[in-house]
Amino acid sequence: MGEIIYEIHPNLCTECVGHYDQPQCQLFCPVDCIPLDPQHVESQDELMDKYKKLIAQKSTSN
Ligand code: SF4
Repeated sequence: MGEIIYEIHPNLCTECVGHYDQPQCQLFCPVDCIPLDPQHVESQDELMDKYKKLIAQKSTSN
């Protein structure tokens, strides 16, 4: 939760790369209020690298 609204942490969001073909939160948001962040534009390769790092972190933290 941010100060006013729920916020997506850019270091933890892969735009669903690694799991789905489309950002699932955008797909299912009923009021279309989850825009891509122009301050954090990332390529598919960068998003996939982030996904792999997050998965590796998760597997070592268990
Ligand atoms: S559902 Fe996908 S696009 Fe939405 S915040 Fe989570 S990882 Fe990012």
